[in-house]
Amino acid sequence: MAAILLTSPMQGWATSLDTVPDAVFAERMMGDGVAIDPTGDCLHAPCDGVVLSVHASGHAITLRSPEGAEILMHIGLDTVALGGRGFTPLVEEGASVDRGDPLIRFDLDLLVCETPAVITPVIVTNSDRFTIQGHEIDRLVAIGDTLMTLVRRDERAADAAIVAGDGVRRTIVVPLAHGIHARPAARIGAAARAFVSEVSIAKDDRIASVRSPVALMALGVRLGDDVTIEATGPDAAEALAAVADLILGGMGEGADSPAASAPALPLVIPATTTLPADGRLRGVTASPGIAIGEAGLFRLAEIAVAQAGNGVEAERRALDVALAAVFSRVAFRSTDATEAEGAIREAHAALLTDPALTDAADAAIARGDSAGFAWRSATRAQADALRATGNARMAERADDLLDLERQVLRTLAGEDPDERIAFPHGTILLADDLLPSHLLGLDTTTIVGFCVERGGPTSHVAILAATMGLPALVAVGSALARIAAGTPLILDAGAGVLHVAPDAASLATAQTAIAAQRDRRTAALADAGRECRTQDGVRIEAFANLGSADDADIAIRNGAEGCGLLRTEFLFLERESAPDVAEQTAEYQRIADTLAGRPLIVRLLDIGGDKPAPYLPIAAEDNPALGLRGIRVGLAFPDMLDAQLRAILAVRPAGQCRVMVPMVASLAELRAVRAALDRAIEATGHRDPVSLGIMVETPAAAVTAHLLAREADFLSIGTNDLTQYVLAMDRGNPAVAASLDGLHPAVLALIGQTCDGAAANGRWTGVCGGLASDPLAVPILIGLGVTEVSSAPALVPEIKALVATLTLPDCRALAHDALSCGSAAEVRALAREFRR
Ligand code: PEP
Ligand code: MG
Repeated sequence: MAAILLTSPMQGWATSLDTVPDAVFAERMMGDGVAIDPTGDCLHAPCDGVVLSVHASGHAITLRSPEGAEILMHIGLDTVALGGRGFTPLVEEGASVDRGDPLIRFDLDLLVCETPAVITPVIVTNSDRFTIQGHEIDRLVAIGDTLMTLVRRDERAADAAIVAGDGVRRTIVVPLAHGIHARPAARIGAAARAFVSEVSIAKDDRIASVRSPVALMALGVRLGDDVTIEATGPDAAEALAAVADLILGGMGEGADSPAASAPALPLVIPATTTLPADGRLRGVTASPGIAIGEAGLFRLAEIAVAQAGNGVEAERRALDVALAAVFSRVAFRSTDATEAEGAIREAHAALLTDPALTDAADAAIARGDSAGFAWRSATRAQADALRATGNARMAERADDLLDLERQVLRTLAGEDPDERIAFPHGTILLADDLLPSHLLGLDTTTIVGFCVERGGPTSHVAILAATMGLPALVAVGSALARIAAGTPLILDAGAGVLHVAPDAASLATAQTAIAAQRDRRTAALADAGRECRTQDGVRIEAFANLGSADDADIAIRNGAEGCGLLRTEFLFLERESAPDVAEQTAEYQRIADTLAGRPLIVRLLDIGGDKPAPYLPIAAEDNPALGLRGIRVGLAFPDMLDAQLRAILAVRPAGQCRVMVPMVASLAELRAVRAALDRAIEATGHRDPVSLGIMVETPAAAVTAHLLAREADFLSIGTNDLTQYVLAMDRGNPAVAASLDGLHPAVLALIGQTCDGAAANGRWTGVCGGLASDPLAVPILIGLGVTEVSSAPALVPEIKALVATLTLPDCRALAHDALSCGSAAEVRALAREFRR
């Protein structure tokens, strides 16, 4: 079916529904559409159709088009209060009308004088069946001008990439593990701001401008949803491509990202309000660890704000100043913030400039509200909209909005936006909910853990708790409010338990566990400088994975003996062009210097697939994990490969860097890289030998390891990808996340095969995927023949301490038994038993 054309029913200024100062319309509660600020005095039919209803007071009318689209036109706001005055309906219910026929005549002067607004929403009310494909806004329209085109929803997906006028659109499937939540929304908005075209994203019957992260979040887009991106304007094609590529690239929200690895919490929180008889409340682990302390109650008084303002101009100015003040605190906070804190601040900064909030607040001020009241109603409406998506992650973002609400209200009241509340030493903080700014403002030297009634394991507070190393539970439920200040508590966050008023025996057990945990950590760190060997003297290299120069410093402080995987993507992503040889050399050199002579295995760029770069002309792929990624990209863009090889060769001392090839699937690829390396060596006059290894991430590489190892200097197993390809489970898909376990016997068999193939050729095999950071996996890996483990920098001491307790014969026996297990769960049980 062709698109349905709706022409303008009145003369006036066409504008987005977002600008209508009435949440019913602005939030599309009645459906999507556009609004017109009329300059004429008659409403006409926007299409042929039948009059379904004319409101008794004559101010609103609904038509049905021949295709079934139902269009409501509502002249002015609160005009029902006129009781029919000023309106003259010209048609009756049931009448057939032609496009352009006059429908309602109205007295524009009367409406201007007696109603809050004359703006007239034109709404498609059955947007479950029809969606807007294009619309004309921010321009003057005459009666009969094109206003909107509609298309049946079921036909919309099929006709991706239709080009209409200067508009383009495309339907994509969202690959983000947690959908479009705060951070992706902020980044999509930032990407679109580089273009002059207007870009919007539509899901089902709802559409949001990408300029508004809040509106984007409120779409409730989840992994696997179809969304349609629309761009209109002179650079529409480029804008659409940039936004689509960004989303399709996964935005670092794959299964291996820390935020993505936490399970999404269903919005089900224990309803019981009484303390259980055994005193043990259960919650969801936000950050593991054990703590003993006394309850400290964190309660915030509601900030009182008067509704009435002191004049529109004064209130607008006050809000602008307060927003600017909070923005600069949030956006330009200290540079020593952790990555997690930085990400939260970035999301908060985007929310503060979000037009969905600022426009709504502005409209409320225009109606006479005070700045504080207007800001509060704007944030609460959007917070409600986010909660209404039913998506746990979006609901968590509602807390961020409430956090910003308080900061702005405190600023307006002339108070310090940071609410610093002091607690005695050894406090376990209990709260209905904790907002990120509360946690950042707390003196964490006195807090030993916290529990909140609500929240979720992926909320910003949970991420911050993990970065601060504080044990924390979320979603404990309202029984938490029953605990009095000062009550003794044991928080075993890893086990998901808060033990209220424990007896002496439980306290003693917890104290022992805490002491053992602390001793283990202290001892591991104290011994972290020792060379990593098994108890029976077998040398196992304990390396660290690095993703940036900063990581190298942490790795060294934790006793890393080298870098087993430098993910060079950090240099190539989120920029307009690839870094040149000089820039790359400088970065690699900085890392090499920090490692002070220790080996640095530089992985050639693993880009494409889930990590695209805007400057690489790689077409969108249906199945990026099986497409142009890893070394396939390097070989497809030989200049880029050459530049990276030259940069690595330029690092001094020569030989500290080794080159590692990602995603190898055939010997031919390794040979092609070897040839490229030889050319770079020749061109740069490099004299020293260069070690060239491969990552074993494909089943093909694992089963042909004996062939590859003849020509590769070393093999390092990327268990993250190997697991996804062996088990045919997308590492970015939470639906299969629970089963995506590298300890599956099939993966272990391929690891064993790789080690054997390498050893037969006198080559070593390492592991740089997630299994190398898993204490249950490490003994099995060693038993299978792995001699280098490259783990997360902070875990190096623990891994080294663990290796020192192992013997090779024990590890071999364990690996042998693991290979005959029926499942990853059985392997884990076996490994647990082994550790005991
Ligand atoms: C892996 O696949 O295990 C690996 C280390 O590479 P990445 O996680 O960067 O894909
Ligand atoms: Mg990989």
